[in-house]
Amino acid sequence: MSDTEDTPSFDPVTVFESTEQDLRSGSDDCYKCSTCDSVCPVASVDSSFPGPKFQGPEQWRLTRKEDTEIDDSIMGCSNCMRCDGACPSSVPLSQMHNTARGAYVENQRFVRSALAALRSGELRRGASIVRDGVSDLRERIRNRLLANYYTAGRFASKLPRVANAFTNFGPTRWLLERVLGITSERSFPSFATQTFREWWTERGGAQLENPDKRVAYFHGCYANYNTPAVGKAMVRVFESFGYEVLVPQQRCSGTPMFANGRLDDAKRHAETNVESLAEAIADGADVIASCTSCSMALRQEYPELFDLDGIDSVGENTYEALEYLRLNEDLEAALAETAGDAEEFAYHAPCHARNQGLDRQAVELFSDVDGVTIEDVGDSCSGISGTYGWKAEKYDYSMAIGDTMFAEMEAAAGEQGMTECPTCAMQMSHGTGYSITHPLELLADILIEEQSASSNG
Ligand code: SF4
Ligand code: SF4
Repeated sequence: MSDTEDTPSFDPVTVFESTEQDLRSGSDDCYKCSTCDSVCPVASVDSSFPGPKFQGPEQWRLTRKEDTEIDDSIMGCSNCMRCDGACPSSVPLSQMHNTARGAYVENQRFVRSALAALRSGELRRGASIVRDGVSDLRERIRNRLLANYYTAGRFASKLPRVANAFTNFGPTRWLLERVLGITSERSFPSFATQTFREWWTERGGAQLENPDKRVAYFHGCYANYNTPAVGKAMVRVFESFGYEVLVPQQRCSGTPMFANGRLDDAKRHAETNVESLAEAIADGADVIASCTSCSMALRQEYPELFDLDGIDSVGENTYEALEYLRLNEDLEAALAETAGDAEEFAYHAPCHARNQGLDRQAVELFSDVDGVTIEDVGDSCSGISGTYGWKAEKYDYSMAIGDTMFAEMEAAAGEQGMTECPTCAMQMSHGTGYSITHPLELLADILIEEQSASSNG
């Protein structure tokens, strides 16, 4: 008898009822070295969090077809994705976490779980069912609000001054913590009085056409609603290198939605993004993002989680903005004859930049510029991880994770920070009181100042 006849045929099954993906092959690649657990910032401060190995390969490996229960600790994962980059066996940890979180949230319905409990004869537990249900519902509403920053930003930017006064009014913050569990320890980010897109329309869009050098800018929510200066700096820098900049129709990258298990919402936003970015790519553009979590979502999380026309092309043609310039222009030469304004920066590489291999780029780029001192504050996580640090029950963990970075920043010579990630910037500023600059802002200041000086001279 041949070996083939001895071997039972492999019959793939759907592991979780609510998804079509079977991630068991990824689980089989895990050889339990626990490297992922050793780099997990949440597991290092929260003893109730079982860590990435359990959340990923162990849950997938042990789950049978009829199982739909996902351990609720999956909601403790901040989606920093450090485990993903650390695994020596390329186990798709964040894909497993995102998929499990989506399935968990899908099943987290008060009425559904109450009915299931009643059906299983747990009528006597009525009071606790209601209590758990209310707590689930509160968490669900809070997470949905945090995940849908795009929608909040759209409304707030209609009346930014009112929104800024309202969100940072003491009683509002108190109520948001008591009712929804959004921490009152942090100040809400300010909404700009003119969004990036409004500025873009007002200036009449692209200032130059160049079919040979064309980029489509994915600004994301934060550069649009809160820090349009980053988007404007990006445009100034790219135009100074002769690029035609397109600003296609877009919605949220989905990053806060993945972290909160809102995969349906993320998919709706991804459909718009993929359609318009794929169109820009077909028109000769590459996609650039100024936020490292946005570029991470377009490059990695989209193709891992969704099946949409053009999604692979978007993933393959997306770059972080500085990375793109370093690949395609001689930035070092452009900066060689320039000088900054005698500024010192403490630079933090966001976890999502690290995952894309971009953790040293700003330090390498600016370290030779006259006047600029830039110090890398190490490889710790900032601790905020998008929406994680905004949750009242996670706030202390978030700050405990950030402690190493705060100490390193304070030990560095500079008293201002630099990073590519808007929520890391919030945490850096919250923990040290420093103002935080995006590398593109410094690059624009140095390059454009230099050009104005040469044209005036
Ligand atoms: S690092 Fe990879 S191989 Fe090691 S335990 Fe974690 S998932 Fe498994
Ligand atoms: S994504 Fe971050 S928080 Fe989540 S399990 Fe991995 S290392 Fe831990």
